[in-house]
Amino acid sequence: MYVSDCISVNEKGHLTIGGADTVELAEKYGTPAYVFDENEIRNNLREFKKSIDENYGGNGLVVYASKAFCCKEMCRICAQEGTGIDVVSGGELYTALSVGFPTDRIVFHGNNKTHDELVMAVTNNVGRIIVDNVTELESLNEVAASQGKTVGIMLRIKPGIDAHTHDFIRTGQIDSKFGFALETGEAMAAVKEALKMPNIKLRGLHCHIGSQIFDLDPFELAATVMLDLFKDIKDQTGVELEELNLGGGFGIKYLKTDRPRPFADYMKKVAETVNSYSAKLGLKTPFILIEPGRSVVGAAGLTLYTVGAVKNIPDVRTYVSIDGGMGDNPRYALYQSHYELVCANKASEKRTETVTVAGKCCESGDLIQEWTHIQPVEPGDIIAVLSTGAYNYSMASNYNRIPRLPAVMVKDGESRVIIKRETYEQVAECDI
Ligand SMILES: *Cc1c(COP(=O)(O)O)cnc(C)c1O
Repeated sequence: MYVSDCISVNEKGHLTIGGADTVELAEKYGTPAYVFDENEIRNNLREFKKSIDENYGGNGLVVYASKAFCCKEMCRICAQEGTGIDVVSGGELYTALSVGFPTDRIVFHGNNKTHDELVMAVTNNVGRIIVDNVTELESLNEVAASQGKTVGIMLRIKPGIDAHTHDFIRTGQIDSKFGFALETGEAMAAVKEALKMPNIKLRGLHCHIGSQIFDLDPFELAATVMLDLFKDIKDQTGVELEELNLGGGFGIKYLKTDRPRPFADYMKKVAETVNSYSAKLGLKTPFILIEPGRSVVGAAGLTLYTVGAVKNIPDVRTYVSIDGGMGDNPRYALYQSHYELVCANKASEKRTETVTVAGKCCESGDLIQEWTHIQPVEPGDIIAVLSTGAYNYSMASNYNRIPRLPAVMVKDGESRVIIKRETYEQVAECDI
């Protein structure tokens, strides 16, 4: 009925997540607040893991892209589920390290890691550093040498596939700040340089073709383009690389009309391509890494707000103001992302109204959704915005010095705080 299986309506007509009544959660923890369902998150991770087991005989690793939602509890959950974790900054790395995340399962991304971040990664024996450019390759080799270590790396390749166009295209993606270009020979040159470096162990290659992708073809095409490069490398250097990282980007449901393929389908089809194409090229199937972010947490989370003023402008529109906004969910302001909204305390009523839900920031563009269908709402009602688990908390800001929201984790109807609500003191803490 809703965009996620963990969302339902109880006998009081209240919206539930993971068996917990969202109206009661709003009372207990206050609003605005993010709420996540732990079972949904764990099930998603397990489904990706199962697909590696079934399609690659377990010869691979699921790496949760933590930028989608990074906090200590998410790192603990990934550690318990036996997945890896992908970090893109010293802050995300710090968070993973602070819960004792197994460092051999940490993957460090980023197109401009600072020297300090490289030192931090090498010092902590991060398993794979995804090297983005030659400058980084050289400084990483120096950092590793200075510590007398050999570091495992993968090179980020631009496979020349833009999955975001309507009919995805194979060229043109050379214009990206991420990674080494294939067409220009830059990628091959970097491979050869990495193979020569004494303190670098080139484990394989990485690509990530975009996000919220519903089609299969771009993933399959990316895999074949990457395997062609594996073959060229073998022919030119005699080295058969061991690992292929296919990135993330699997689409999720934001609206009921969205029709993402089930993960299992994706994985099966892409694995068929990887297995058969490797064989065709005379390569053994590499160790496969995948990096799902949004698809692990996106539909497992929602945001609860309390309605304040309702402003009906005749013949124009109705603005429903809530106690959060672009500070906790910048995605509509950034790229007009669609969401499903529900009045949590009237969830069994019909959605007869068309309204614009506005935040409390001093910015006309601070909207959560325009012209959205919802139950008749009045001041004091609770509005739930669904599928906000990914790229909401992680993109939150303190614009207007509004404290960041807490995150509540629900499991089998029980709830607990996993991120505390920020206080005014904390917002001003670094001020001198
Ligand atoms: C953002 C990102 C991911 C995760 O993407 P989703 O769309 O959230 O699955 C994976 N790998 C890399 C390198 C990324 O930048």
